[in-house]
Amino acid sequence: MKMTYKGSCHCGKVRFEADIDLDQGTGRCNCSSCAKRRYWGVNVKPEDFRLMSDETAAGDYQFGTMSGHHRFCTTCGVAAYSHGYVEEIGGAYVSVNVACLDDMDPAVLAALPIQYMDGLHNNWWNAPAETRYL
Ligand SMILES: [Zn+2]
Repeated sequence: MKMTYKGSCHCGKVRFEADIDLDQGTGRCNCSSCAKRRYWGVNVKPEDFRLMSDETAAGDYQFGTMSGHHRFCTTCGVAAYSHGYVEEIGGAYVSVNVACLDDMDPAVLAALPIQYMDGLHNNWWNAPAETRYL
């Protein structure tokens, strides 16, 4: 069931609200970017994401195919969300960093379904052989 969550970076300069059905699954990936950031994402449609802070508070990092905008707080560095367009996952998306959702019960976080993606080998629909470090 979709619920509305508030989220933020560490210092609070980047803040958002998002309508998310966390039971639909979250994602962890071993690509060069996600692995270094230990990014834990959940995808929503752009209309379910509301930035509550000035957009200039978030830097915009792009790499590779340049299809994703990996936004990070220019003060504390936390990567709170990203957005982009990937046809294979239904077009425009916003990826919310699950770790940036505020006031989450640890037991709820621990129980969330996780889909692992072998992004490192452009094998997004399958899990990598090792997932424990992600
Ligand atoms: Zn910040």
